[in-house]
Amino acid sequence: MSRFLSKQYEKLTPYTPGEQPRERAYIKLNTNESPYPPSPGVVAIKKEQLEDLRLYSDPEAHGLRRALAQQYGVNPENVHVGNGSDEVLNFAFMAYATDGRGAAFADITYGFYPVFAQLNDIPVSIIPLREDFSLCPEDYFSLHQTIVIANPNAPTGLALRLEQVEEILLSNPDSVVIIDEAYVDFGAQSCVPLTKRYDNLLVVQTFSKSRSMAGARLGFAIGHADLIADLERIRFSTNPYNVNRLTLALGETALQEQSYYDENCKRIIATREACKARFHQMGFVFPDSKANFLFVKKEGANGKLLYEELKRKGVLVRHFEAPRLSDYNRITIGTPQQMEVLFQCLEEIL
Ligand SMILES: *Cc1c(COP(=O)(O)O)cnc(C)c1O
Repeated sequence: MSRFLSKQYEKLTPYTPGEQPRERAYIKLNTNESPYPPSPGVVAIKKEQLEDLRLYSDPEAHGLRRALAQQYGVNPENVHVGNGSDEVLNFAFMAYATDGRGAAFADITYGFYPVFAQLNDIPVSIIPLREDFSLCPEDYFSLHQTIVIANPNAPTGLALRLEQVEEILLSNPDSVVIIDEAYVDFGAQSCVPLTKRYDNLLVVQTFSKSRSMAGARLGFAIGHADLIADLERIRFSTNPYNVNRLTLALGETALQEQSYYDENCKRIIATREACKARFHQMGFVFPDSKANFLFVKKEGANGKLLYEELKRKGVLVRHFEAPRLSDYNRITIGTPQQMEVLFQCLEEIL
């Protein structure tokens, strides 16, 4: 920290991303990336597209917004696109939780929410999950704060049903409810249809997980046109070219090849369910994940040690130090072959 840094950032604790190691080739099951490459059209990027990089990207992202609107059954004015959903979420925190209004989210959820709150000087209400990591909708009734829920949640993988989200929306008509659907394509119910009936609902999704494009940085939000206009106001005050030209084009191509991604999701879900059975046989316990990861612990095994021993054997998983989490490891669902290696390593270690 230099002596020049503004006071307001001195106490900021930045987000800690999962390791992206360079020193050795790991089986990488630590950051919920897809084990499968992007679709054929995305991979076949053309020389002309690279030459077009001399031009700024379309600040209105017309093509991609139209394509997203079509795919999700909404209008382009209901769609905002961002440089990863992290940017979209930060804009939403800025738009709807500042002025002292505050944000409410679970004690165990995506680790970026408290960082966005701190960055924007937003007071927070931390709402503990139940002992089994489930979220109790009643805890979110009539809060008069911006509500942020990852559905499915990270790192547990547990998902709320649509009716439960609807109860929360109904009891908070004067607050924005942000549903972060980063993992929704792996088997949970999407709240996008509810955006037509609730003007206080913002659904945020990403191309990083189910669409194999984490490195391209592309996220989006769907909601009432007025909510989207708010986010656009902030975007045009920050960086109108927030999504680069290549990523806009590749995002559109990806949507044209949706069936490829649907197949991948099916494969990942099948692998996940097979892994649940296997973990269960080995005496692990875990919440019933609807995401592309499992959050597992074994009675009597030390979570941190397990992480370290797996790493030594070349398998990278994610361990969190927080009190309620430290017995667990979050393990991304890879290919069946990768998971086989994981289980062999676990057998050796245990
Ligand atoms: C991965 C993840 C994101 C961020 O995704 P990007 O689009 O890559 O920024 C947002 N929310 C949750 C819950 C995630 O797990």
